[in-house]
Amino acid sequence: MTDEKTRPCPSCDGLMRRGVQEETVTFQGESLTYLQPGWHCENGDDGVLEGTDNEYADAALHEVMARAKHSPISPLMVRAAREAVGVSQRQAGKVFGGGPTAFYKYETAKAVPSEGMANLLRMALENPEYFIKPARSGLNWPTAQDAQLLRRVVTDNKLGAILRRIYPQTADADERVVG
Ligand SMILES: [Zn+2]
Repeated sequence: MTDEKTRPCPSCDGLMRRGVQEETVTFQGESLTYLQPGWHCENGDDGVLEGTDNEYADAALHEVMARAKHSPISPLMVRAAREAVGVSQRQAGKVFGGGPTAFYKYETAKAVPSEGMANLLRMALENPEYFIKPARSGLNWPTAQDAQLLRRVVTDNKLGAILRRIYPQTADADERVVG
């Protein structure tokens, strides 16, 4: 009969228990205390991590590394934005720009995204559908969607007058009749 929740500690005579324990990770003056799942010894010596336990340790380390590097956005938030859009790290480098390895580097704090990229990723979290829809761009611009957007956003000003004459589809229906 085995109790899966305890095991002998490899470094002392104590028992280890499976559970969650506060750990603090430090990098270049930044530190973060988080809840680390794993095997923890009753005598308080080092714990043992196995399987997905390491993902928590890695995530915590990447967060403090990004803070130390003054990243404008958390690596976990970068990942959340990418997953909201539903793309791989490699694909994200195309969807958001930055190239095939950019997101691997952002999410592991090997590189820090620009302020502009951080803003784009926050936008993706709020409106992932903007980035999921294929071919909002293309050579056939302005698309019906673009024209609608311009009608809504560009009000009566110089740019609006130019747009309505270059692209009549950006004008309201009644304005179009006047010619
Ligand atoms: Zn021990």
